[in-house]
Amino acid sequence: MAYQDIRARVDAAARRAGHAATLVAVSKTKPVAAIRAMAALGQRAFGENYIQEAVAKQGELRDLALEWHMIGPLQSNKCREVSERFDWLQTLDREKLVPALHRYRPAGSPPLNVLIQVNIDAESSKSGCAPEAVQTLAENIAGHSGLKLRGLMAIPEPHADGARRGDAFRAMRQLYSGLQAAFAGIDTLSMGMSEDFELAIEEGATMVRIGTALFGARQ
Ligand SMILES: *Cc1c(COP(=O)(O)O)cnc(C)c1O
Repeated sequence: MAYQDIRARVDAAARRAGHAATLVAVSKTKPVAAIRAMAALGQRAFGENYIQEAVAKQGELRDLALEWHMIGPLQSNKCREVSERFDWLQTLDREKLVPALHRYRPAGSPPLNVLIQVNIDAESSKSGCAPEAVQTLAENIAGHSGLKLRGLMAIPEPHADGARRGDAFRAMRQLYSGLQAAFAGIDTLSMGMSEDFELAIEEGATMVRIGTALFGARQ
């Protein structure tokens, strides 16, 4: 099955790189049964992009101890649902959302794990903050006890050639090192998807987000 194969490739790349790499299975648009089957093989972390879809799936999968990652762009009117229902938010890119995320984190829950999304290919129209804005945003997050800053996330330009993608990964790694020097508890660099996860791990990713290679193409 695809899962065992991808899992083995992630682990092999991590061994070559000399550090651990967490696999987040990106299950957007895929049915609950597919998530359940992968959970039965030992997968724990799942990534979703759309809140309504994610909340419905979480309800049906309540009997499993899964870890949910929000990886889609975050709208301000969704802060409450994200903070109440997810374990990780990988796409925080502006200060405006920080107070609401903090306020809505349920009292009995551990802090929401947060990654700052960086728009590392400046010419793309993707969300994410500018590299220069990371430090200020990180300070803001660190001042809120409902949130726990864990690191950075990026979606480098998909159509860039391999060398250019390598450049983006290296730029992210450098930013990540700077963040680690300035803040405690920074242990996660999330980059790499179905097409490039091995390269991303070799360039320093400690977390990869894989959809298509695990679940097949999306409609
Ligand atoms: C959909 C998505 C992925 C997975 O992409 P694949 O190419 O299917 O592996 C990873 N990260 C983010 C942010 C996504 O939206």
